[in-house]
Amino acid sequence: MTTTATPPYCGRFAPSPSGLLHAGSLTTAVGSYLEARCRNGIWRVRIEDLDPPREIPGASRAILATLEACGLYWDGEVVYQSRRHGLYREALERLIAEGHAYACNCSRREIALAARAGVDGMVYPGFCRSGMRAGREAHAWRLRVPEQEIACVDRLQGDCRQQLARDVGDFVLLRADGCWAYQLAVVVDDAEQGINDIVRGSDLLVSTPRQLWLQHCLAYARPGYCHLPLMVNAAGEKLSKQTLAPAISRDAARDELWRALSRLGHEPAADVGGLDELWAWAFANWRLAQVPAGPVVIGGA
Ligand code: GLU
Repeated sequence: MTTTATPPYCGRFAPSPSGLLHAGSLTTAVGSYLEARCRNGIWRVRIEDLDPPREIPGASRAILATLEACGLYWDGEVVYQSRRHGLYREALERLIAEGHAYACNCSRREIALAARAGVDGMVYPGFCRSGMRAGREAHAWRLRVPEQEIACVDRLQGDCRQQLARDVGDFVLLRADGCWAYQLAVVVDDAEQGINDIVRGSDLLVSTPRQLWLQHCLAYARPGYCHLPLMVNAAGEKLSKQTLAPAISRDAARDELWRALSRLGHEPAADVGGLDELWAWAFANWRLAQVPAGPVVIGGA
């Protein structure tokens, strides 16, 4: 008799070391961890360190130490994107060979003068689609996007769709300065690491259709998606280093976890116990249906 084994659930948390963990990123990590562990799944951590100028020295180590202090233990080795350029290069070569990617030597200014606004910045006007302008060396690589609607159903946010040509335009895979774009690296890594479910912050929902299209072009399996609510400050701004969100305190790990659970719609009793008891409570009580879809306001008055 033959049986078809279903691969185990495999999720991940993929912080960028451009800042320390704050209430928003810890809450995302906790939600993604609980989705994985409550399905007896694997949970990986990948450090997205592809943009050295934006990196804070020591942030990767501090993020990992904070995850551990809060009781979030990953499976396998931590993966660093900065060590995986070869994989991104291979994927780009395939996209070029199959006619999906093309070189572009437009300047920012040329694009800004001609482009209209899309859902996430300018929509590239397509000047280099059928060949670059002569006389310039440095060039980026872009992915050709279709005029069809790309859609998926997010477990928490519901229907998510974009017409990429209209809403985003042909987007960058490798920048002219040699930096790999997030969109390419994330898709290659998720596929290569066997990630079959992606739980992350809602600020990335706008990127999901681009990633679905890249998965299609590279013939990768499509993972499931669940975008957790965005954590915002009293002014409605996403918590981040730029909006001065305070770093998570490792010494207060138990209380930080309690607050993360409460932001995710889970209210353990205040006297539930220490970190271990709190995790035991979370494993027993985690229900995605209780998590709010919309923004959660943190801090303020
Ligand atoms: N590195 C991204 C961030 O820190 C997350 C990427 C992802 O989860 O797809 O915002």
